[in-house]
Amino acid sequence: MSERDLLVHDLLERARFYASLTDVGVPRGRPPAEEAAPSPPAEETAGSEAAVASPGEELRAIRELLGDCRRCKLAGGRKSIVFGQGNPRAALMFVGEAPGADEDEQGLAFVGRAGQLLTDIIEKGLKMPRAEVFIANVIKCRPPQNRNPEADEILSCQPFLESQIRAIRPKVIVGLGKFAGQWLLKTAEPISRIRGRLGRYEGIAVVPTYHPAFLLRNPSAKKEVWEDIKVVRDLLRAGGA
Ligand code: URA
Repeated sequence: MSERDLLVHDLLERARFYASLTDVGVPRGRPPAEEAAPSPPAEETAGSEAAVASPGEELRAIRELLGDCRRCKLAGGRKSIVFGQGNPRAALMFVGEAPGADEDEQGLAFVGRAGQLLTDIIEKGLKMPRAEVFIANVIKCRPPQNRNPEADEILSCQPFLESQIRAIRPKVIVGLGKFAGQWLLKTAEPISRIRGRLGRYEGIAVVPTYHPAFLLRNPSAKKEVWEDIKVVRDLLRAGGA
């Protein structure tokens, strides 16, 4: 293992430890973004041994650590690990629930019918190319028959999603549906209660909204999602919260 891999491994272990503290009610220990030390100017780090990995490099290291993951029971039934995809320097990140059949087949997040609707939300609603955002899920393997993710599965994937968010450090995260909204905001409240409220994840603005698959079944909820998307647009214009 290279020094960088060891460092990322260490970070993932710490993330797992802090996640377990959160589970037993201890508040998270990492300083929020605005309290973090400012980065040195690029010329000070260029060429030096201590140069900080780029978000893309960090994501690649996280993907390597994930490997052919067997950390939970979903490994046996999946075809692909759906790591998530998009711009490693995205200002906007979407977090969904779990891969479905199309995503499992292609190894990419949100490529089925719900994915098409998400593309419309991004491209028609936010007027930005989908390739400009980053899209991931709370869990990276498809649950059998698309059942809900279970607690042990969410916990197994947690350090990886945490590390992805820390690597990307978007300005805004949209939590799609109950599982993403609850995971990001560390709450058990239903999505109908948490949407419409601005939250925070490690100092990053979180906008919880309905899942595109829910919108396919309940098109009348699109007007609430549109309200949420306008909040996202305004936050992005303001450079985050
Ligand atoms: N639903 C999700 O939550 N994620 C996907 O990637 C696809 C469908």
